[in-house]
Amino acid sequence: MKVGFIGLGHMGSGMAANLLRAGHELTVFNRSADKRRPLMELGAREATKVADACTGEAVITMLADDTALREVALGDEGVLEELRRGSTHISMSTASVELTRRLAEAHEEAGQRLVAAPVFGRPEMAAAAKLFIVAAGSAEALRICQPLFDAMGQRTFPLGTEPAAASLVKLAGNFMIAATIESLGEALALVSKAGIEPASFVDLLTSTLFPAPAYRTYGSLIAEGKFQPAGFAAPLGHKDVRLLLAASESLHVPMPIASLLNDRLLRLIAQGGKKLDWSAISQLAAQDAGLPHVLR
Ligand code: NAP
Repeated sequence: MKVGFIGLGHMGSGMAANLLRAGHELTVFNRSADKRRPLMELGAREATKVADACTGEAVITMLADDTALREVALGDEGVLEELRRGSTHISMSTASVELTRRLAEAHEEAGQRLVAAPVFGRPEMAAAAKLFIVAAGSAEALRICQPLFDAMGQRTFPLGTEPAAASLVKLAGNFMIAATIESLGEALALVSKAGIEPASFVDLLTSTLFPAPAYRTYGSLIAEGKFQPAGFAAPLGHKDVRLLLAASESLHVPMPIASLLNDRLLRLIAQGGKKLDWSAISQLAAQDAGLPHVLR
């Protein structure tokens, strides 16, 4: 397929490379031009502005947050203005339910299609084409996008015709990951203070009751105390918890653990943790317990 890709950050760079490897004709745009070069070396065409990435059957956006997505999609000479009628915007960022809904309406009015397809999996999984993709949009648009999803992920979960549903599911999933990190941080602070080796504790629990990827990945990151370079930076994690709280508020669903996580991430960022992986909130539990903590 002839596709544009906008947003070559930690996730987007690996996803775009996998689309090229699968034989798709790719035009790439990134705000900071230096990140376009490695993709061009793999055979991508360079777009020097958003509009140049909007000439194909589909354009994928993988941007940091709602502000970036709003600017790129709804701004002057943005995706909405530039995409041809009948073409598809595949929005893969973790975005708010509200913005996804607004984009869906705007694209429909313009005779274009929106598929929301946020992903589960960190940059290593993006690079290895192992993402889990949660996709929602019209059945026809999902069918057209499937070869692209197959090139980037190990499995696609279709979630119906309403794009905003995919954003809500992604935010709910990230909330569960953040809660996992917090509970791991608290349990590891407890056992560490009693002199038990954190890595053995993680090994025991992930080999028995908690063999899930989230416990394995974050258990070893926390036991190692390695939070840099960030695979998923704390400000992005904080953004997701805030978007989840906005959704929970509009649906009138109290989520007290999400409120706590919002505080934890805010505190980490306020204390200079902006560049750290979001799993560094585990160190706040260690700090509360009076344990020496090393942020690396
Ligand atoms: P990232 O490395 O920070 O990359 C963010 C991208 O957004 C960069 O291409 C950046 O361009 C661009 N951007 C930011 N603000 C912009 C603006 N105002 N205008 C235009 N472009 C802008 O983030 P990431 O880790 O790849 O995450 C991307 C998305 O995937 C986020 O929504 C995140 O929540 C989601 N996600 C991440 C992970 C993960 O583990 N990292 C996992 C699942 C989902 P520059 O290079 O110019 O800054």
